[in-house]
Amino acid sequence: MERVSIVKCGDYQPSRVYEAVTRSINLLGGMSQFIKPGMKVLLKCNLLMRKKPEEATTTHPEIVAAAARLVREAGAVPTIADSPGGLFTERALRGVYRACGIEEIAARDQIQLNYNVEEAVRPHPQGKIIKSLAVIRAIEEADAVINIAKLKTHGMTLYTGAVKNLFGVIPGTTKAEYHLRMKKLKDFSDVLVDICTYVKPVLSIMDAVVGMEGQGPSAGDPRKIGAVLASGSPFALDVASVSLVGIPPGKVCTIQRAKERGLCSDLKDIALLGDSLEDLKIHDFKIPSHKHVGFIEQYFSGDSPVARFINAKFGPRPVFDYDGCIGCRDCEKNCPPRAITMVDGKPVADLNECIRCYCCQELCPKKAVHIKRSWLFRTFR
Ligand code: SF4
Ligand code: SF4
Repeated sequence: MERVSIVKCGDYQPSRVYEAVTRSINLLGGMSQFIKPGMKVLLKCNLLMRKKPEEATTTHPEIVAAAARLVREAGAVPTIADSPGGLFTERALRGVYRACGIEEIAARDQIQLNYNVEEAVRPHPQGKIIKSLAVIRAIEEADAVINIAKLKTHGMTLYTGAVKNLFGVIPGTTKAEYHLRMKKLKDFSDVLVDICTYVKPVLSIMDAVVGMEGQGPSAGDPRKIGAVLASGSPFALDVASVSLVGIPPGKVCTIQRAKERGLCSDLKDIALLGDSLEDLKIHDFKIPSHKHVGFIEQYFSGDSPVARFINAKFGPRPVFDYDGCIGCRDCEKNCPPRAITMVDGKPVADLNECIRCYCCQELCPKKAVHIKRSWLFRTFR
């Protein structure tokens, strides 16, 4: 039976976080159950973009510091790594580590940061959709991966947690190719499951002390949840995490796809250890507004002329807030099908080309991209 531990943690005070992360892992048998002395252990955090820890877009540095300390206490060597959105360069990594508070805790606790921006192409014969994949070389050089995710909503996948966090092992802008090749949510979710089965993290930890609700994964609002969760199974961890914030697991496509492959159980079949999920449950967690009506994406996602037409007329679409936009072009540079062009220094999206991946919203540093339904849809509704 899969096990997930849940431990109450009210804030990011370092000793409280260390205590909560330690307890969550001890409930699973302790760090020595997952790693051995002498191992090189990669801590795969969510470092999506340059955001301060209090913005709740990235894994909080104190959670990472606590995990690194436990890895060290188990006799292994931790390295913090991620491939954030945008270019995968040493310069970009430095900027993200600094902004996210990772550089500071790494210097304080003498934790190694990954600056290797090489990539490797590896076969994955067990993959359902992808039989080989490009990954950051740091993953290949590690003996074990510990997945340290942040509990957030997501414009495309509804929720991002343990499984989706591993998309960050795909180097930089190569991520856009996956969006382009797998335009349907179902296929993209299958790819996320494939990546997860390739990486096989030995342990997954969820930073749910403060998560993100609303227009996640970067334009939403921080929301106190007050918990740290951990599991040997990233799939079970996601089931427990979404249940904690009142999202039915069946609505999350990565969970559905994993379940179909027998990789994931229902909540009732997962052993929940530690504090009570019911007592910590958030009943009014806000999901992205356009996700309240999801049938168009469900039935008309994809590349057929009909799907394109329906989506262009009725589907949710990125809308740019030109007052907030600073013209940085990050959305243009990271749009997988190159559907965005800059006109007079401001982005304009060609909705016939847009594949509704919402990378533009995800990577906008100014929260200047909103996902909205068309006026036609709102009128019919
Ligand atoms: S990423 Fe945001 S701020 Fe930058 S150009 Fe696009 S909308 Fe404007
Ligand atoms: S415009 Fe935005 S949502 Fe549409 S394809 Fe480009 S990045 Fe994705």
